[in-house]
Amino acid sequence: MKTADLTLTEQQLDLMQTELGGSRDVETAAYVLFGVSRIAGDPFEHQPRLRLMVKEVLPVTGDEIKSADHVHISWSTERFVQLLARAEREGLQLGIAHSHPRGPARFSVQDDRNEAELVRLAQNRNGGRALLPSLLIAEGQFVAGRVWLSPDTVIDFSQARTVGGNWRIIFFAEEQVATDPALARQELALGANFNRLMRQLRVGVVGAGGTGSPLLQQLARMGVGRIAIFDPDHVEYSNLNRLYGATRNDAEQAVKKVDVARREIERMGLGTEMATFDNWIGAEECQDALKSMDLIFGCTDDHDGRLLLNRLAYYYLIPVIDIGLALRVSERHGISGLEADGRVTVLEPGSVCLVCRRVVNASIAAEEALRRNDPEEYEHRKAEAYVRGEGNPSPAVISFTTSVATMAVEELIQRVNQFRGASGAITNRVRKFNLVEDFRPGAKKEPCRICGSDRIHGVGDVQPFLGRTG
Ligand SMILES: [Zn+2]
Ligand SMILES: [Zn+2]
Repeated sequence: MKTADLTLTEQQLDLMQTELGGSRDVETAAYVLFGVSRIAGDPFEHQPRLRLMVKEVLPVTGDEIKSADHVHISWSTERFVQLLARAEREGLQLGIAHSHPRGPARFSVQDDRNEAELVRLAQNRNGGRALLPSLLIAEGQFVAGRVWLSPDTVIDFSQARTVGGNWRIIFFAEEQVATDPALARQELALGANFNRLMRQLRVGVVGAGGTGSPLLQQLARMGVGRIAIFDPDHVEYSNLNRLYGATRNDAEQAVKKVDVARREIERMGLGTEMATFDNWIGAEECQDALKSMDLIFGCTDDHDGRLLLNRLAYYYLIPVIDIGLALRVSERHGISGLEADGRVTVLEPGSVCLVCRRVVNASIAAEEALRRNDPEEYEHRKAEAYVRGEGNPSPAVISFTTSVATMAVEELIQRVNQFRGASGAITNRVRKFNLVEDFRPGAKKEPCRICGSDRIHGVGDVQPFLGRTG
């Protein structure tokens, strides 16, 4: 069975609930443009999944409305047809939102008839792949949503998720989730709703190494229901100083890092569903899995991988919490000292991306891509000193890798539970361990066309994937 869900920003949710839900006397309506993410196989349920992302909400205005009262609204479909042309041009889907000012909190028989007619209109104009998403606001609250695939096929949204500051999930289908005694102490601190939300989340962890392994330990013990782990590497001796769960035997047998992570989480016995990928995340096998996530932690040192996640966050409205750690041994006045900087950056609409923060380096990313795609040419250029080569191994200490992973988990808790207060979210946090201080550095340049452009945010599927060429 196909499933469907929705993502929108907090601001879009507010707009819909206040603009459409404001009136108690008459029904109101809006056109809504959506980006779409078509998933052939979700990595956990192995079922097709359709995800829609709200791009723009355009309220139906007074002069378009033919008649309206508290139980009905009827408006001219002239603009619907105009907007269909725009949707086709921009690779988007056109849908509607309307209100039931005094309830009920479900679609009516009349809604069914009208929407079947609208999807027919959309498919006649834009072809058989045109969809008609429909959202319902009742008594000022967003209470239901669905997507028509044809005049006689409709899928209800299971949930809507907000991004952009605080992360909320509105569950449309009431699911009974048994409380787990293993999470009782966490419930005392963060509430039953927090535990329920963790159980529903699909979290991706890209990189199961120094920062990824302590992160995975924490996510599983916090009750995250579904975790997808991506890492192409295997365990080496030099990892054993910081890789949780890894053994000397794993290094000798060159066991994959994703297999160590899976084994350790399975041993906890907390019922975590897992999907593991021993590929680089740019591989085609990883696309559906990445697109299926509600949230991704970037725990990789690889610049090209970071560039990919950087785009994914904005194209698909999947927040990425990117983690970085830099240890440097410096010499000052003949005394050597350790500088240790941990960084946690949240990527989503409204925050500045890793390119604009100069965290990723495009030319290193290009060299990594060359090493992956054309190793011979890469070695050739390295010999001629056209590429910089892998360089010296970077220093690493378990206390710092664990600390920075914990900072990232704290950011997740904040976004869901607001334990630091309503405006306590931090988009970019740098901890200087040697100064025992945290900083919040701003961006170094103006937002680029990825993070700064509404056109990209929530656009979803484009050709090529994420607009990346080569
Ligand atoms: Zn209705
Ligand atoms: Zn940017």
